[in-house]
Amino acid sequence: MTILLSTLNARYAHASLGLRYLLANMGELQGRTRLQEFVIGAKTTEVVEKLLSHAPRIIGFGVYIWNVDETTKVVAMLKRIAPGITIVLGGPEVSHETGDQDIIRMADYLVTGWGDVTFPKLCGDILDGPKPLMKIHAGAQPPMAEIAMPYALYTDEDIAHRTLYVEASRGCPFKCEFCLSALDKTAWPFGLDTFLGELESLHARGARLFKFVDRTFNLNIKTSLKIMQFFLDKLEANPDDPVYAHFELVPDHLPDALKEGIAKFPPGALQFEIGIQSFNPEVQALVSRKQDNAKAADNIRWLCEHSNAHMHVDLIAGLPGEDMASFARGFDQLVALKPHEIQFGILKRLRGTPIIRHTEQYGLVFDAYAPYTILATSLIDFQTMQRLVRFSRYWDLVANSGRFANTIERMLADAPFDNFMAFSDWIYSKTDATHRIALDRLANLVTQWLQTRGMGKEEATLLVGRDYAGRVDATAAQAHAPRPAAGVPQRQARHLAA
Ligand code: SF4
Repeated sequence: MTILLSTLNARYAHASLGLRYLLANMGELQGRTRLQEFVIGAKTTEVVEKLLSHAPRIIGFGVYIWNVDETTKVVAMLKRIAPGITIVLGGPEVSHETGDQDIIRMADYLVTGWGDVTFPKLCGDILDGPKPLMKIHAGAQPPMAEIAMPYALYTDEDIAHRTLYVEASRGCPFKCEFCLSALDKTAWPFGLDTFLGELESLHARGARLFKFVDRTFNLNIKTSLKIMQFFLDKLEANPDDPVYAHFELVPDHLPDALKEGIAKFPPGALQFEIGIQSFNPEVQALVSRKQDNAKAADNIRWLCEHSNAHMHVDLIAGLPGEDMASFARGFDQLVALKPHEIQFGILKRLRGTPIIRHTEQYGLVFDAYAPYTILATSLIDFQTMQRLVRFSRYWDLVANSGRFANTIERMLADAPFDNFMAFSDWIYSKTDATHRIALDRLANLVTQWLQTRGMGKEEATLLVGRDYAGRVDATAAQAHAPRPAAGVPQRQARHLAA
Protein backbone atom coordinates (compact mmCIF):
# COMPACT_ATOMS: atom_id res chain seq x y z
CA MET A 1 0.00 0.00 0.00
CA THR A 2 1.39 3.37 -0.96
CA ILE A 3 -0.80 5.91 0.82
CA LEU A 4 -2.60 5.48 4.11
CA LEU A 5 -5.29 7.87 5.27
CA SER A 6 -5.64 7.79 9.01
CA THR A 7 -7.25 9.52 11.94
CA LEU A 8 -8.22 8.88 15.53
CA ASN A 9 -11.98 9.20 15.83
CA ALA A 10 -13.59 10.23 19.10
CA ARG A 11 -15.58 6.97 19.09
CA TYR A 12 -15.76 3.85 16.99
CA ALA A 13 -19.29 4.86 15.95
CA HIS A 14 -17.98 8.03 14.31
CA ALA A 15 -16.94 7.06 10.79
CA SER A 16 -14.66 9.78 9.43
CA LEU A 17 -16.34 11.65 6.59
CA GLY A 18 -13.18 13.70 5.92
CA LEU A 19 -11.02 10.64 5.20
CA ARG A 20 -13.67 9.20 2.90
CA TYR A 21 -13.79 12.47 0.95
CA LEU A 22 -10.03 12.28 0.47
CA LEU A 23 -10.15 8.65 -0.64
CA ALA A 24 -13.02 9.37 -3.06
CA ASN A 25 -10.99 12.17 -4.65
CA MET A 26 -7.64 10.38 -4.99
CA GLY A 27 -8.14 9.88 -8.74
CA GLU A 28 -5.62 7.49 -10.22
CA LEU A 29 -4.00 7.04 -6.82
CA GLN A 30 -7.18 5.67 -5.29
CA GLY A 31 -6.23 2.04 -5.95
CA ARG A 32 -2.99 2.59 -4.00
CA THR A 33 -4.69 4.32 -1.06
CA ARG A 34 -6.56 2.90 1.90
CA LEU A 35 -8.15 4.01 5.15
CA GLN A 36 -7.01 3.03 8.60
CA GLU A 37 -9.11 4.53 11.38
CA PHE A 38 -8.46 4.34 15.11
CA VAL A 39 -10.29 5.46 18.22
CA ILE A 40 -8.76 7.84 20.74
CA GLY A 41 -7.40 6.01 23.74
CA ALA A 42 -5.63 3.43 21.56
CA LYS A 43 -2.02 2.70 22.57
CA THR A 44 0.42 4.72 20.49
CA THR A 45 2.62 1.68 19.86
CA GLU A 46 -0.36 -0.32 18.61
CA VAL A 47 -1.44 2.50 16.29
CA VAL A 48 2.07 2.81 14.90
CA GLU A 49 2.45 -0.96 14.51
CA LYS A 50 -0.82 -1.19 12.56
CA LEU A 51 0.13 1.74 10.34
CA LEU A 52 3.53 0.23 9.60
CA SER A 53 2.01 -3.15 8.79
CA HIS A 54 0.74 -1.61 5.54
CA ALA A 55 4.27 -0.49 4.59
CA PRO A 56 3.02 2.89 3.39
CA ARG A 57 5.17 5.50 1.68
CA ILE A 58 2.85 8.33 2.72
CA ILE A 59 0.54 8.63 5.71
CA GLY A 60 -2.04 11.43 5.76
CA PHE A 61 -3.49 12.23 9.19
CA GLY A 62 -6.77 14.05 9.84
CA VAL A 63 -6.06 16.24 12.89
CA TYR A 64 -8.86 17.59 15.07
CA ILE A 65 -9.10 19.24 18.45
CA TRP A 66 -10.04 15.91 20.04
CA ASN A 67 -7.14 13.90 18.64
CA VAL A 68 -4.26 16.36 18.27
CA ASP A 69 -2.42 15.23 21.42
CA GLU A 70 -2.57 11.54 20.54
CA THR A 71 -1.82 12.14 16.87
CA THR A 72 1.23 14.18 17.90
CA LYS A 73 2.54 11.16 19.82
CA VAL A 74 1.87 8.86 16.85
CA VAL A 75 3.71 11.19 14.47
CA ALA A 76 6.62 11.53 16.92
CA MET A 77 6.95 7.75 17.19
CA LEU A 78 6.70 7.26 13.42
CA LYS A 79 9.43 9.81 12.85
CA ARG A 80 11.72 7.82 15.19
CA ILE A 81 10.93 4.32 14.01
CA ALA A 82 10.25 4.92 10.31
CA PRO A 83 11.64 8.31 9.32
CA GLY A 84 11.42 7.44 5.63
CA ILE A 85 7.61 7.59 5.63
CA THR A 86 6.29 10.95 4.46
CA ILE A 87 3.80 12.43 6.90
CA VAL A 88 1.12 14.79 5.58
CA LEU A 89 -1.27 16.54 7.96
CA GLY A 90 -4.65 18.10 7.36
CA GLY A 91 -7.77 19.02 9.31
CA PRO A 92 -9.11 22.04 11.19
CA GLU A 93 -6.71 21.80 14.13
CA VAL A 94 -3.65 22.20 11.92
CA SER A 95 -5.12 24.63 9.38
CA HIS A 96 -4.40 27.73 11.49
CA GLU A 97 -1.62 29.03 13.73
CA THR A 98 0.67 26.68 11.87
CA GLY A 99 3.86 28.11 13.35
CA ASP A 100 2.97 27.08 16.91
CA GLN A 101 2.43 23.36 16.81
CA ASP A 102 4.81 20.47 17.55
CA ILE A 103 2.92 18.11 15.27
CA ILE A 104 3.43 20.46 12.32
CA ARG A 105 7.12 20.83 13.10
CA MET A 106 7.54 17.05 12.92
CA ALA A 107 5.44 16.49 9.79
CA ASP A 108 6.75 16.72 6.24
CA TYR A 109 3.78 18.47 4.66
CA LEU A 110 0.60 20.19 5.66
CA VAL A 111 -2.58 20.85 3.70
CA THR A 112 -4.67 23.61 5.24
CA GLY A 113 -8.41 23.97 4.62
CA TRP A 114 -10.07 21.80 2.00
CA GLY A 115 -7.99 18.78 1.03
CA ASP A 116 -10.14 17.26 -1.73
CA VAL A 117 -7.94 18.28 -4.65
CA THR A 118 -4.76 19.51 -2.97
CA PHE A 119 -4.01 16.33 -1.03
CA PRO A 120 -4.10 13.98 -4.07
CA LYS A 121 -1.99 16.42 -6.07
CA LEU A 122 0.54 16.69 -3.27
CA CYS A 123 0.74 12.89 -2.98
CA GLY A 124 1.31 12.63 -6.74
CA ASP A 125 4.15 15.14 -6.53
CA ILE A 126 5.71 13.36 -3.54
CA LEU A 127 5.60 10.00 -5.32
CA ASP A 128 6.48 11.01 -8.86
CA GLY A 129 8.19 14.37 -8.46
CA PRO A 130 9.00 17.09 -8.77
CA LYS A 131 9.37 16.98 -4.99
CA PRO A 132 7.23 19.72 -3.46
CA LEU A 133 9.39 22.53 -2.13
CA MET A 134 6.85 24.14 0.16
CA LYS A 135 5.86 22.43 3.40
CA ILE A 136 2.49 24.17 3.75
CA HIS A 137 -0.06 23.89 0.96
CA ALA A 138 -3.23 25.95 1.14
CA GLY A 139 -6.10 23.67 0.14
CA ALA A 140 -7.71 24.73 -3.12
CA GLN A 141 -11.47 24.94 -3.17
CA PRO A 142 -12.79 23.42 -6.39
CA PRO A 143 -16.30 23.93 -7.75
CA MET A 144 -18.57 21.70 -5.69
CA ALA A 145 -19.54 19.64 -8.75
CA GLU A 146 -15.91 18.57 -9.12
CA ILE A 147 -15.73 17.00 -5.68
CA ALA A 148 -16.38 13.24 -5.80
CA MET A 149 -19.00 12.08 -3.31
CA PRO A 150 -17.62 9.75 -0.62
CA TYR A 151 -20.73 7.83 0.36
CA ALA A 152 -20.07 4.67 -1.63
CA LEU A 153 -17.00 4.27 0.58
CA TYR A 154 -19.09 3.61 3.65
CA THR A 155 -18.70 -0.14 4.01
CA ASP A 156 -21.50 -2.51 4.91
CA GLU A 157 -20.04 -2.65 8.39
CA ASP A 158 -20.09 1.18 8.61
CA ILE A 159 -23.72 1.15 7.52
CA ALA A 160 -24.63 -1.52 10.04
CA HIS A 161 -22.79 -0.19 13.08
CA ARG A 162 -21.68 3.42 12.70
CA THR A 163 -23.14 6.90 12.41
CA LEU A 164 -23.27 7.92 8.76
CA TYR A 165 -22.28 11.55 8.36
CA VAL A 166 -23.55 13.30 5.25
CA GLU A 167 -23.42 16.88 4.05
CA ALA A 168 -25.61 18.70 1.54
CA SER A 169 -23.47 21.84 1.85
CA ARG A 170 -20.23 23.11 3.34
CA GLY A 171 -19.59 26.39 5.10
CA CYS A 172 -21.73 28.94 6.89
CA PRO A 173 -22.55 32.56 6.04
CA PHE A 174 -22.61 33.65 9.69
CA LYS A 175 -19.69 34.97 11.66
CA CYS A 176 -19.95 33.77 15.26
CA GLU A 177 -16.46 34.43 16.52
CA PHE A 178 -16.09 31.28 18.64
CA CYS A 179 -16.74 29.05 15.62
CA LEU A 180 -14.37 27.98 12.85
CA SER A 181 -17.16 28.36 10.31
CA ALA A 182 -16.96 32.10 11.00
CA LEU A 183 -14.04 32.05 8.56
CA ASP A 184 -16.20 30.79 5.70
CA LYS A 185 -17.61 33.57 3.60
CA THR A 186 -20.74 31.70 2.69
CA ALA A 187 -22.22 28.21 2.41
CA TRP A 188 -21.58 26.13 -0.71
CA PRO A 189 -24.21 23.55 -1.66
CA PHE A 190 -23.50 20.26 -3.39
CA GLY A 191 -25.68 19.45 -6.40
CA LEU A 192 -28.95 18.45 -4.75
CA ASP A 193 -29.98 15.72 -7.18
CA THR A 194 -26.57 14.07 -6.99
CA PHE A 195 -26.66 14.26 -3.22
CA LEU A 196 -30.17 12.81 -2.99
CA GLY A 197 -29.06 10.01 -5.32
CA GLU A 198 -26.28 9.21 -2.84
CA LEU A 199 -28.77 9.14 0.04
CA GLU A 200 -30.97 6.83 -2.03
CA SER A 201 -28.07 4.41 -2.56
CA LEU A 202 -27.17 4.46 1.12
CA HIS A 203 -30.77 3.78 2.05
CA ALA A 204 -30.96 0.91 -0.45
CA ARG A 205 -27.86 -0.56 1.20
CA GLY A 206 -29.57 -0.50 4.59
CA ALA A 207 -28.57 2.88 6.04
CA ARG A 208 -31.22 4.24 8.40
CA LEU A 209 -29.42 6.81 10.58
CA PHE A 210 -28.20 9.93 8.79
CA LYS A 211 -26.39 12.72 10.57
CA PHE A 212 -26.13 15.92 8.54
CA VAL A 213 -23.04 17.95 9.30
CA ASP A 214 -24.28 21.01 7.40
CA ARG A 215 -23.74 23.95 9.69
CA THR A 216 -27.12 25.47 8.89
CA PHE A 217 -29.57 23.02 7.37
CA ASN A 218 -32.37 25.60 7.10
CA LEU A 219 -30.47 28.25 5.14
CA ASN A 220 -32.10 27.41 1.82
CA ILE A 221 -35.64 26.36 2.56
CA LYS A 222 -36.28 24.83 -0.88
CA THR A 223 -33.32 22.51 -0.41
CA SER A 224 -34.30 21.72 3.19
CA LEU A 225 -37.80 20.79 2.06
CA LYS A 226 -36.55 18.48 -0.67
CA ILE A 227 -34.23 16.71 1.72
CA MET A 228 -36.97 16.37 4.31
CA GLN A 229 -39.30 15.04 1.63
CA PHE A 230 -36.75 12.33 0.85
CA PHE A 231 -37.04 11.13 4.45
CA LEU A 232 -40.83 11.53 4.57
CA ASP A 233 -41.15 9.38 1.44
CA LYS A 234 -38.99 6.71 3.01
CA LEU A 235 -41.04 6.82 6.21
CA GLU A 236 -44.27 6.52 4.28
CA ALA A 237 -43.02 3.68 2.10
CA ASN A 238 -41.43 1.73 4.96
CA PRO A 239 -43.21 2.57 8.22
CA ASP A 240 -41.87 -0.61 9.83
CA ASP A 241 -38.29 0.11 8.85
CA PRO A 242 -38.04 3.84 9.53
CA VAL A 243 -35.20 6.31 8.97
CA TYR A 244 -33.75 8.79 11.46
CA ALA A 245 -32.17 12.10 10.48
CA HIS A 246 -30.22 14.66 12.48
CA PHE A 247 -29.93 18.29 11.33
CA GLU A 248 -28.38 21.48 12.73
CA LEU A 249 -30.70 24.48 12.49
CA VAL A 250 -30.34 28.20 13.00
CA PRO A 251 -33.15 28.94 15.43
CA ASP A 252 -34.63 32.16 14.10
CA HIS A 253 -35.42 31.00 10.58
CA LEU A 254 -38.33 28.60 10.41
CA PRO A 255 -40.81 29.63 7.73
CA ASP A 256 -44.27 28.02 7.69
CA ALA A 257 -43.42 25.73 4.77
CA LEU A 258 -40.61 24.20 6.80
CA LYS A 259 -42.81 23.89 9.88
CA GLU A 260 -45.40 22.02 7.81
CA GLY A 261 -42.78 19.55 6.64
CA ILE A 262 -41.35 19.09 10.13
CA ALA A 263 -44.79 18.49 11.62
CA LYS A 264 -45.27 15.46 9.34
CA PHE A 265 -42.44 13.45 10.93
CA PRO A 266 -43.48 10.76 13.41
CA PRO A 267 -41.73 10.35 16.79
CA GLY A 268 -38.25 8.93 16.63
CA ALA A 269 -37.45 10.07 13.11
CA LEU A 270 -35.97 13.54 13.49
CA GLN A 271 -33.46 15.28 15.71
CA PHE A 272 -32.58 18.96 15.62
CA GLU A 273 -29.49 20.49 17.12
CA ILE A 274 -30.02 24.20 17.61
CA GLY A 275 -27.39 26.64 18.78
CA ILE A 276 -28.61 29.44 21.03
CA GLN A 277 -25.20 29.87 22.71
CA SER A 278 -26.30 33.00 24.61
CA PHE A 279 -29.56 34.88 25.03
CA ASN A 280 -27.69 38.04 26.07
CA PRO A 281 -27.85 40.60 23.19
CA GLU A 282 -24.66 42.35 24.35
CA VAL A 283 -22.73 39.08 24.35
CA GLN A 284 -24.18 38.19 20.96
CA ALA A 285 -23.05 41.52 19.56
CA LEU A 286 -19.57 41.07 21.05
CA VAL A 287 -19.10 37.71 19.34
CA SER A 288 -20.82 38.85 16.12
CA ARG A 289 -23.66 36.38 16.48
CA LYS A 290 -26.75 37.61 14.72
CA GLN A 291 -29.81 36.12 16.33
CA ASP A 292 -33.36 37.32 16.81
CA ASN A 293 -33.91 36.03 20.35
CA ALA A 294 -37.69 36.42 20.37
CA LYS A 295 -38.06 34.56 17.07
CA ALA A 296 -35.58 31.91 18.17
CA ALA A 297 -37.52 31.31 21.41
CA ASP A 298 -40.85 31.18 19.54
CA ASN A 299 -39.48 28.66 17.06
CA ILE A 300 -38.00 26.41 19.73
CA ARG A 301 -41.29 26.55 21.63
CA TRP A 302 -43.17 25.70 18.44
CA LEU A 303 -40.86 22.76 17.68
CA CYS A 304 -41.20 21.44 21.23
CA GLU A 305 -44.99 21.76 21.25
CA HIS A 306 -45.98 20.97 17.68
CA SER A 307 -43.41 18.59 16.27
CA ASN A 308 -42.11 15.16 17.22
CA ALA A 309 -38.51 16.21 16.68
CA HIS A 310 -36.04 15.43 19.42
CA MET A 311 -34.67 18.83 20.43
CA HIS A 312 -31.09 19.36 21.48
CA VAL A 313 -30.25 23.01 22.15
CA ASP A 314 -26.76 24.39 22.81
CA LEU A 315 -25.64 27.08 25.23
CA ILE A 316 -22.04 28.15 25.80
CA ALA A 317 -20.68 29.30 29.16
CA GLY A 318 -17.61 31.53 29.30
CA LEU A 319 -18.29 33.86 26.39
CA PRO A 320 -16.80 37.36 26.70
CA GLY A 321 -19.10 39.76 28.54
CA GLU A 322 -21.26 37.02 30.09
CA ASP A 323 -21.34 36.72 33.88
CA MET A 324 -23.02 34.03 35.95
CA ALA A 325 -26.23 36.01 36.39
CA SER A 326 -26.60 36.60 32.66
CA PHE A 327 -25.80 32.96 31.88
CA ALA A 328 -28.31 31.83 34.53
CA ARG A 329 -31.04 33.99 32.99
CA GLY A 330 -30.38 32.50 29.55
CA PHE A 331 -30.37 28.99 30.99
CA ASP A 332 -33.70 29.54 32.77
CA GLN A 333 -35.17 31.01 29.60
CA LEU A 334 -34.14 27.93 27.68
CA VAL A 335 -35.38 25.47 30.32
CA ALA A 336 -38.79 27.17 30.11
CA LEU A 337 -38.97 26.28 26.41
CA LYS A 338 -38.64 22.59 27.38
CA PRO A 339 -36.20 21.14 24.83
CA HIS A 340 -35.33 17.48 25.46
CA GLU A 341 -31.68 18.28 26.01
CA ILE A 342 -29.70 21.41 26.77
CA GLN A 343 -26.08 20.98 25.88
CA PHE A 344 -24.28 23.22 28.26
CA GLY A 345 -20.88 23.65 26.65
CA ILE A 346 -17.87 25.49 28.05
CA LEU A 347 -16.19 27.84 25.57
CA LYS A 348 -13.19 26.39 23.75
CA ARG A 349 -10.68 28.32 21.74
CA LEU A 350 -10.63 26.70 18.35
CA ARG A 351 -7.45 27.59 16.50
CA GLY A 352 -8.08 30.31 13.96
CA THR A 353 -11.31 31.62 15.48
CA PRO A 354 -11.54 35.40 15.85
CA ILE A 355 -12.71 35.25 19.47
CA ILE A 356 -9.17 35.86 20.69
CA ARG A 357 -9.54 39.53 19.79
CA HIS A 358 -11.41 39.86 23.13
CA THR A 359 -8.67 38.19 25.17
CA GLU A 360 -7.27 41.28 26.83
CA GLN A 361 -10.38 43.33 27.37
CA TYR A 362 -12.45 40.44 28.72
CA GLY A 363 -9.66 38.63 30.54
CA LEU A 364 -10.07 35.40 28.57
CA VAL A 365 -7.74 32.70 29.88
CA PHE A 366 -7.77 29.45 27.91
CA ASP A 367 -6.11 26.17 28.81
CA ALA A 368 -2.81 25.88 26.94
CA TYR A 369 -3.62 22.28 25.96
CA ALA A 370 -6.34 20.89 23.67
CA PRO A 371 -9.26 21.31 23.78
CA TYR A 372 -8.22 24.80 24.98
CA THR A 373 -11.17 25.18 27.35
CA ILE A 374 -11.75 28.58 28.90
CA LEU A 375 -10.45 28.69 32.49
CA ALA A 376 -11.50 32.20 33.52
CA THR A 377 -12.80 35.49 32.19
CA SER A 378 -12.90 38.97 33.70
CA LEU A 379 -16.44 38.13 34.87
CA ILE A 380 -16.10 34.47 35.87
CA ASP A 381 -13.10 33.42 37.97
CA PHE A 382 -11.40 30.01 37.77
CA GLN A 383 -13.23 28.50 40.76
CA THR A 384 -16.61 29.61 39.44
CA MET A 385 -15.77 28.29 35.98
CA GLN A 386 -15.00 24.89 37.53
CA ARG A 387 -18.41 24.96 39.21
CA LEU A 388 -19.92 25.56 35.78
CA VAL A 389 -17.91 22.70 34.29
CA ARG A 390 -19.29 20.36 36.98
CA PHE A 391 -22.80 21.73 36.48
CA SER A 392 -22.48 20.83 32.81
CA ARG A 393 -21.38 17.29 33.60
CA TYR A 394 -24.09 16.60 36.21
CA TRP A 395 -26.68 18.21 33.93
CA ASP A 396 -25.75 15.68 31.32
CA LEU A 397 -26.01 12.79 33.78
CA VAL A 398 -29.28 13.81 35.42
CA ALA A 399 -31.23 15.97 32.96
CA ASN A 400 -30.02 15.20 29.43
CA SER A 401 -29.77 11.48 30.12
CA GLY A 402 -33.57 11.28 30.33
CA ARG A 403 -33.22 8.98 33.34
CA PHE A 404 -34.90 11.40 35.77
CA ALA A 405 -37.55 12.89 33.52
CA ASN A 406 -40.10 13.75 36.24
CA THR A 407 -37.69 14.20 39.10
CA ILE A 408 -35.76 16.86 37.23
CA GLU A 409 -38.80 19.13 37.07
CA ARG A 410 -39.10 19.02 40.86
CA MET A 411 -35.37 19.60 41.23
CA LEU A 412 -35.46 22.67 39.02
CA ALA A 413 -38.76 24.11 40.31
CA ASP A 414 -39.04 27.83 39.69
CA ALA A 415 -35.31 28.64 39.65
CA PRO A 416 -33.69 26.01 37.38
CA PHE A 417 -30.15 27.38 37.26
CA ASP A 418 -29.83 28.21 40.95
CA ASN A 419 -31.44 24.98 42.06
CA PHE A 420 -29.35 22.79 39.80
CA MET A 421 -26.19 24.66 40.75
CA ALA A 422 -26.99 23.98 44.42
CA PHE A 423 -27.44 20.28 43.55
CA SER A 424 -24.22 20.29 41.54
CA ASP A 425 -22.20 21.81 44.42
CA TRP A 426 -23.80 19.35 46.85
CA ILE A 427 -23.26 16.18 44.82
CA TYR A 428 -19.65 17.16 44.18
CA SER A 429 -19.11 17.65 47.92
CA LYS A 430 -20.52 14.13 48.48
CA THR A 431 -18.71 12.28 45.71
CA ASP A 432 -15.63 14.30 44.82
CA ALA A 433 -16.28 12.96 41.31
CA THR A 434 -17.99 13.93 38.10
CA HIS A 435 -17.43 10.64 36.27
CA ARG A 436 -17.92 6.98 37.04
CA ILE A 437 -20.95 7.48 39.25
CA ALA A 438 -22.99 4.29 38.89
CA LEU A 439 -26.63 4.83 38.03
CA ASP A 440 -27.92 3.28 41.27
CA ARG A 441 -25.66 5.51 43.30
CA LEU A 442 -26.74 8.53 41.31
CA ALA A 443 -30.40 7.69 41.91
CA ASN A 444 -29.70 7.35 45.65
CA LEU A 445 -27.92 10.69 45.68
CA VAL A 446 -30.77 12.39 43.84
CA THR A 447 -33.19 10.89 46.38
CA GLN A 448 -31.06 12.19 49.26
CA TRP A 449 -30.82 15.61 47.65
CA LEU A 450 -34.60 15.89 47.39
CA GLN A 451 -34.78 15.20 51.12
CA THR A 452 -32.28 17.93 51.92
CA ARG A 453 -34.70 20.23 50.08
CA GLY A 454 -37.56 19.29 52.38
CA MET A 455 -39.19 16.37 50.54
CA GLY A 456 -40.14 13.38 52.69
CA LYS A 457 -38.11 10.20 52.24
CA GLU A 458 -41.08 8.21 50.97
CA GLU A 459 -42.10 10.84 48.43
CA ALA A 460 -38.55 11.27 47.18
CA THR A 461 -38.04 7.51 46.83
CA LEU A 462 -41.35 7.17 45.00
CA LEU A 463 -40.62 10.07 42.68
CA VAL A 464 -37.21 8.78 41.63
CA GLY A 465 -38.54 5.20 41.48
CA ARG A 466 -41.45 6.27 39.28
CA ASP A 467 -39.06 7.63 36.66
CA TYR A 468 -37.82 4.09 36.16
CA ALA A 469 -41.28 2.51 36.32
CA GLY A 470 -42.64 5.25 34.04
CA ARG A 471 -40.02 4.48 31.47
CA VAL A 472 -41.01 0.82 31.47
CA ASP A 473 -44.73 1.72 31.04
CA ALA A 474 -43.99 4.23 28.34
CA THR A 475 -41.78 1.77 26.53
CA ALA A 476 -44.60 -0.77 26.59
CA ALA A 477 -47.02 1.85 25.26
CA GLN A 478 -44.56 2.66 22.54
CA ALA A 479 -44.72 -0.91 21.33
CA HIS A 480 -48.05 0.08 19.75
CA ALA A 481 -46.82 3.43 18.47
CA PRO A 482 -44.83 3.89 15.23
CA ARG A 483 -41.46 2.25 15.77
CA PRO A 484 -38.44 4.59 15.75
CA ALA A 485 -35.49 3.69 13.57
CA ALA A 486 -33.44 0.78 14.83
CA GLY A 487 -30.45 2.12 16.67
CA VAL A 488 -31.97 5.49 17.53
CA PRO A 489 -29.47 6.86 20.03
CA GLN A 490 -30.33 5.60 23.53
CA ARG A 491 -30.94 8.99 25.06
CA GLN A 492 -33.39 9.98 22.37
CA ALA A 493 -35.18 6.68 22.85
CA ARG A 494 -35.43 7.41 26.59
CA HIS A 495 -36.79 10.89 25.93
CA LEU A 496 -39.36 9.39 23.58
CA ALA A 497 -40.41 7.00 26.28
CA ALA A 498 -40.56 9.64 29.04
S1 SF4 B 1 -22.02 28.95 15.30
FE1 SF4 B 1 -23.35 28.12 13.70
S2 SF4 B 1 -24.23 29.95 12.74
FE2 SF4 B 1 -22.45 30.66 13.87
S3 SF4 B 1 -20.74 30.63 12.38
FE3 SF4 B 1 -20.74 28.66 13.45
S4 SF4 B 1 -21.93 27.29 12.18
FE4 SF4 B 1 -22.40 29.39 11.53
